[in-house]
Amino acid sequence: MSKTKSSESVKVVVRCRPMNEKELAATFECVVSVDVKFGQIIVRNPRETSAGELPKVFTFDSVYDCNSKQLDLYDETFRPLVDSVLQGFNGTIFAYGQTGTGKTYTMEGVRNDPERRGVIPNSFDHIFTHISRSQNQQYLVRASYLEIYQEEIRDLLSKDQSRRLELRERPDTGVYVKDLSSFVTKSVREIENVMNVGNQNRSVGSTNMNEHSSRSHAIFVITVECSELGLDGENHIRVGKLNLVDLAGSERQTKTGAQGERLKEATKINLSLSALGNVISALVDGRSSHIPYRDSKLTRLLQDSLGGNARTVMVANIGPASYNVEETLTTLRYSNRAK
Ligand code: ADP
Ligand code: MG
Repeated sequence: MSKTKSSESVKVVVRCRPMNEKELAATFECVVSVDVKFGQIIVRNPRETSAGELPKVFTFDSVYDCNSKQLDLYDETFRPLVDSVLQGFNGTIFAYGQTGTGKTYTMEGVRNDPERRGVIPNSFDHIFTHISRSQNQQYLVRASYLEIYQEEIRDLLSKDQSRRLELRERPDTGVYVKDLSSFVTKSVREIENVMNVGNQNRSVGSTNMNEHSSRSHAIFVITVECSELGLDGENHIRVGKLNLVDLAGSERQTKTGAQGERLKEATKINLSLSALGNVISALVDGRSSHIPYRDSKLTRLLQDSLGGNARTVMVANIGPASYNVEETLTTLRYSNRAK
């Protein structure tokens, strides 16, 4: 019973990006096949297949190949989750994977290109379109944007970017970030502005944006409050929260020969990603009475949006080229366990 319930509430999908120009120019072999019909990813590890081993096959809720369109992912995989947020439930969308595999492409996509916009801008449109068509309901949409870097929380919308925020817990409202700013937004344009401000702040503190984003988790939070006059003549309020998470790169940074600060940082990144994997697999398993939310800031923060009535989609991003095959297999094993 609980098994079916959690497999409905947690979905894991895999998306493989196209070969990029460098990879094509270097004529790297493509080792990933995507079987959309059967939801399968097939990986041939050239070293192993030449030694007679069979390709590895992984099955997921859905899989997306290199030609997949942002809007198809949205309509099939993300839209139902955002709909449930509009109904007053919590939901979380994660992009997981090695740096350079398309996490940010999936979450944000290409600005000013309607066809290549990611789930975050598509959810803005979805939410405000829903609101504009509603009758007899009052909506209040608020946005927050934060980052977790080395297990420290930074408010990407605050004036003071050097400040670190603390997690607190209250019996009535649960875990929250103390002093996190949130902005009421009344239109797509306003919420886009909030996102842009946060993105700018995110890059300001870092000398190398690529490196920084590969080591930190960015979480865009949209809270949708809806009040409606019930048949009993009373106003009823329901609140749903949508967390849109661009995770740190999953590459094993300890293997890159990092030392000192870098190594400490790498350990922390791996800690929150492995804590997330443990939480999701415990939820999917459905038999564990203990869900280890407390093991990292990320999982504590998202506690009320993972499990229970909340819905979760994890998009595991992978690359197709042979030189990435080990990381690709690691991502698929992690996601398979989370499934
Ligand atoms: P990550 O955030 O995981 O480090 P990015 O989203 O920055 O990776 O993607 C790396 C590069 O690959 C970017 O130039 C991006 O535009 C491109 N890319 C990623 N996924 C796709 C895709 N599905 N289709 C086309 N281009 C993609
Ligand atoms: Mg990125």
